[in-house]
Amino acid sequence: MTRVFHRHLRSTPPVAVSAAGMRIYDAAGRSYLDASGGAAVSSLGHGHPDVIAAMHAQIDRLPYAHTSFFTSETAERLADELIRTAPEGMSHVYLVSGGSEAVESALKMARQYFVEIGQPQRTHFIARRQSYHGNTLGALAVGGNEWRRAPFAPILVAATHLAPCYPYREQRADETPEQYGLRLAAELDAAIVAQGADSVIAFVAETVGGATAGVLTPVPGYFKAVREVCDKHGVLLILDEVMCGMGRTGTLYASEQEDVVPDLVTIAKGLGGGYQPIGAVLAQRKIVDAMSKGSGFFQHGHTYLGHPVACAAALAVQNVIHRDGLLEKVRADGRALGAMLRVALGGHPNVGDIRGRGFFWGIELVADRASKRPFAPALKVNATIKKDAMARGLLCYPFGGTVDGVHGDHVLLAPPFIASRED
Ligand code: PLP
Repeated sequence: MTRVFHRHLRSTPPVAVSAAGMRIYDAAGRSYLDASGGAAVSSLGHGHPDVIAAMHAQIDRLPYAHTSFFTSETAERLADELIRTAPEGMSHVYLVSGGSEAVESALKMARQYFVEIGQPQRTHFIARRQSYHGNTLGALAVGGNEWRRAPFAPILVAATHLAPCYPYREQRADETPEQYGLRLAAELDAAIVAQGADSVIAFVAETVGGATAGVLTPVPGYFKAVREVCDKHGVLLILDEVMCGMGRTGTLYASEQEDVVPDLVTIAKGLGGGYQPIGAVLAQRKIVDAMSKGSGFFQHGHTYLGHPVACAAALAVQNVIHRDGLLEKVRADGRALGAMLRVALGGHPNVGDIRGRGFFWGIELVADRASKRPFAPALKVNATIKKDAMARGLLCYPFGGTVDGVHGDHVLLAPPFIASRED
């Protein structure tokens, strides 16, 4: 009998015993092709020798030192590397242990920034429906996944949720993608004004919507217009790239493709590629300056900030991505993957939409293509797909959820960057 508090309490998953490259093996001797990198985590696949060697070397030298006493060479080198390749104007990196911690830290950084610059009345976040920002209470508050939020809603901080950029379902027939993006930005503008412009801390969004949305790629101009609205009201823009960042969409940051620079950006999953739990917040200079000139202290922290072994793993992952030209590979092979998915699945009567960028693809499933009617929740399509795929030796990442009373199912594919076209 298992003593691990698993996600599902009425079933126990197979026992993973080893992994190499694109494959994970279980105790029953079954082999699984990892087409989703877990949940878009394993960017370099499994057992990469460079990452493992870097972790070994770090453990031998310095396994841990608490950041209230020390920094480490490895954390400093990782931060230098992340700033070297960061969106314009980023000056510092806050190193945490995962995505939820990164989002939580970014929310608190944004709030403290306004306290430091004399605008403590700013207390409200605006975010989007069909979003996922993590499971800790702050991240859950800005997240727009109703199913995850519902039991905890009474204890979450206030946040307003607006429409995501979801052209398949929400772009009107009489508008171009650009007009649709501007309409959404105008809705943000109106929501900020309705809330009281000087009471809003930040707009929080995944640059490419992931787990809850089935890879929602923004329409051209949407984020530029959003940035302008935020600037007009002095509201910060927090982009959550925990899932879509670190090369997943073919550029290190998905925001590069939107030609937009956030005030804070969160990264995790692909940062450590699953070799270690690590996440980070990159902050614009004005935010760091406000704190260093003000209280001189970020009122937040965790025991495993800047963990040296996690930093060593992340640094090695970064080095491999750049050395092996993996961003270029993801761009080229990602186009091929999209084309292959369209050929293989585009004509399927239950495939409503296929969308994505790089090695980040979503397949939206519908009961009826013409009306885009989703499957009934009771059918548990996502659970069936996951189970059947695993039985056939494939790991993909299906999601089924109800948002504003509308149920939707999709399957997320996020293969490791090392995947060959044959894989
Ligand atoms: N933000 C986004 C966009 C995510 O996709 C996730 C996880 O799926 C998180 C935050 C939370 O990250 P973690 O599960 O590492 O806490």
